[in-house]
Amino acid sequence: MESPPTSTYFQTVSPAAEAPQPSALPPSTLPQPDPTRKDAGTSPSTDDPKVRPNRKPLLRLELRDLSCSGCRSFLRLLHASTALEDAVDTVLRLLYTGLKTHCIPSTRSVTLTLRAMGGVAYTTGLDIDSDHKEIHLNTSYIAMIPEGRLKEEMLGVIIHEMVHCWQHDGNGTAPGGLIEGIADWVRLKAGYAPPHWKRRADCDWDSGYEKTAYFLEWLEEEHGADIVRSINDGLRGCEYDEDTFWPKCCGKSVHKLWDDYKAHLSGPGEDERA
Ligand SMILES: [Zn+2]
Repeated sequence: MESPPTSTYFQTVSPAAEAPQPSALPPSTLPQPDPTRKDAGTSPSTDDPKVRPNRKPLLRLELRDLSCSGCRSFLRLLHASTALEDAVDTVLRLLYTGLKTHCIPSTRSVTLTLRAMGGVAYTTGLDIDSDHKEIHLNTSYIAMIPEGRLKEEMLGVIIHEMVHCWQHDGNGTAPGGLIEGIADWVRLKAGYAPPHWKRRADCDWDSGYEKTAYFLEWLEEEHGADIVRSINDGLRGCEYDEDTFWPKCCGKSVHKLWDDYKAHLSGPGEDERA
């Protein structure tokens, strides 16, 4: 596997073979923003649920080898012109509904590149201007996905990576597991959780990906529908300090929250939920 730039986030969905299954979770209904929060009153009109950045990003597609099966599957199953735009809309809706436009990063372009490489996918910013993002998606990985899961898996990976184009990261100081957890939380809320995802607490809170994503989903239930948006916005333009960050947004340390989550998962009824 090649070495990614330091600003790269990896998406590590296991390429292990899975039986074709329907989507695990339906898209969730986005709750209304809390009218008491400081940014209330600046949300988009209810007649227009789209959350728009200051500048509409330029979206581009680069196919390195049209003859490879991964590129062919992509072109056969997705409308590239709308898939990227829909991914942007989904990410902005889930991360920025109810927030002011200036809270949205000034991403100017996103280029999706399909090419043979290691891993699944990663997102990086250009060295000369990090407002220009590149998502690299491995065509060899696409070729390994069972047909019945192919479209949803490609869209799920694209949404995960699109989150990295628009999320805040505490100026690079936020835990990588939190960054990846927010990306998979968006994927989960968008209805693209793969069938193999499970709620787990036999790990640290910041183990990342779906482990942290389900923790964030539980935090929503406990602390309100805006909590992940508050967490993401709390990482905007300032450094992450674990000791103050979590008590400020959730009233407890993250370790206490994780203990509560563990207790919740071990409680009655979880077998049916997993
Ligand atoms: Zn990622």
